[in-house]
Amino acid sequence: MRIGHGYDVHRLVPKRKLILGGVEIQHHLGLLGHSDADVLTHAVMDALLGAAALGDIGRHFPDCDAKYSGISSMLLLGHVMELLRKEGYQVGNLDVTVIAQQPKLLPHIPQMRQNLSKQMGVPTSHINVKATTEEGLGFSGKEEGIAAHAVVLLSPLLPEG
Ligand code: MG
Repeated sequence: MRIGHGYDVHRLVPKRKLILGGVEIQHHLGLLGHSDADVLTHAVMDALLGAAALGDIGRHFPDCDAKYSGISSMLLLGHVMELLRKEGYQVGNLDVTVIAQQPKLLPHIPQMRQNLSKQMGVPTSHINVKATTEEGLGFSGKEEGIAAHAVVLLSPLLPEG
């Protein structure tokens, strides 16, 4: 078994979409980034790549590459899963924490888990997403940005049948 951790932060700005775990959430601010800036999914990908000792998303999907401009992070997650399968890994379980003062994320968590499950080929029962605030403290508390942590466990891919 192999464990991986991912961490990411994106800045909150006006006139951008807020996409978390592949869910577009109505909010007056959105996340700034080269891709769709889905900070939750970025943390998940870094955890997966970390567990497999395959570096990080910056190495696989450089933000100087125009082909990743505005790209759906869910699509990139699919690429990461393909890489892991090639290396002979499957996902045991995934646990994610999103740190945001606003908006309330609880109503969107079931859809986030479903999106991750579909893209990763892992049952929702093995995927946990939770949200917390930092009580108004720091950059997340001041609504300057949103952070996400992810922890994942990989195990050897079992042959089918
Ligand atoms: Mg990122």
